[in-house]
Amino acid sequence: PNLPSLPPNNSKNGFSSSTTIKSFINLDQGDPMLFKEYWRKMSEKCTVVIKGCELLSYLSDLGNVCWFMMPELREAIKRLHALVGNADTNDKYIVVGNGSTQLFQAALYAFSSSSDEPMNVIAASPYYSEYEEQTDILHSGVHKWSGDAMKYDKNEAYIEVVTSPNNPDGSIRGPVVNNKKCESEGKLIHDLAYYWPHYTPITHKANHDLMLFTFSKCTGHAGSRIGWAIVKDKEIAKKMTKFIQMSSIGVSKESQIRVAKIIEVLCDIYENFKCSGSSKETELFFELSKCLMKERWEKLREVIKQSNDFSLPKFPKAYCNFTNESSETYPAFAWLKCNKDDDCESYLEKKLKILARGGTRFGSDPRYARVSLLGKAEDFEEFLKRLSIDMN
Ligand code: PMP
Repeated sequence: PNLPSLPPNNSKNGFSSSTTIKSFINLDQGDPMLFKEYWRKMSEKCTVVIKGCELLSYLSDLGNVCWFMMPELREAIKRLHALVGNADTNDKYIVVGNGSTQLFQAALYAFSSSSDEPMNVIAASPYYSEYEEQTDILHSGVHKWSGDAMKYDKNEAYIEVVTSPNNPDGSIRGPVVNNKKCESEGKLIHDLAYYWPHYTPITHKANHDLMLFTFSKCTGHAGSRIGWAIVKDKEIAKKMTKFIQMSSIGVSKESQIRVAKIIEVLCDIYENFKCSGSSKETELFFELSKCLMKERWEKLREVIKQSNDFSLPKFPKAYCNFTNESSETYPAFAWLKCNKDDDCESYLEKKLKILARGGTRFGSDPRYARVSLLGKAEDFEEFLKRLSIDMN
């Protein structure tokens, strides 16, 4: 791999603590700009033309539970999961949402709406920082955030959110609430935003009651705001559809059409590669994106190895049924531990002018901070340079 070479002096990478760092780099959000180069090459193939007279109706598919979902998007999503083998869509309902953010709230509503008391919503720490605010934003009395699932010992019904691979730390997870200790009924939401081959080996076809996926992290088209839920229970799928109807009367058809087209292009390339050899290896989205993620992780690990200031989690290898090779997880975020300061976020901000999200936001330790690895190449390279600054 193309790793940065270190100059042969004791001020690693040519920087020292007296080096002035000019501007901030923002690695707080997971904006997926890393994939833009790939899509630039596919620009023409993915272009969608929508005429002035098209897509006027609110309605899409009245015979289906999710009546505002366009059939071409439903078929494209099924095709994508069949190609990747990461989720079982057979005999399940698919609900489209404005990002998986809206579907998370729809799932909370669906699981809580028959309960008299506010439903406890929990996730094992460190958990995705937005769950807490999304749960409590309305102070609704329908559900309430109840913190770390590892510590949950109430005898009350709960919803546990299982994020795998996890945001922020990339760990592979399952539910943690000990059902023997807690006799109450528990519902599970599996947030599988990062269960795609460029981030982690695809070890099995996920087949849970309620799974959330997002186009944002799959291909990087976060701006289209398309997410989907794969749901076993028809009544739950109906309630989620109702929630989306009440909050936005559906999901933009322009977005649905665009996403269906991009998925179609992505899948066609694989099919042409396997069947007729008319696509090139360099056009395979997941393989190419996995190389990008791997390269970033290898560069980052190399820089961290030279430094006593930070450490990173390690990930076990697993066999990926999609790429047919054994590999590590290459998460979208680095969960950095600062060995020099009790407040990693403030250390990064004050000393290195790097904006990251501190551990407390994830219900965890402030010695950790989450740094996005999905940003633009120049920001990533600058991040590596700054981590190499010798502060001693
Ligand atoms: N779940 C997880 C774990 C995420 O990291 C994100 C995006 N950062 C989301 C959900 C929300 O994604 P969307 O863009 O689909 O709303």
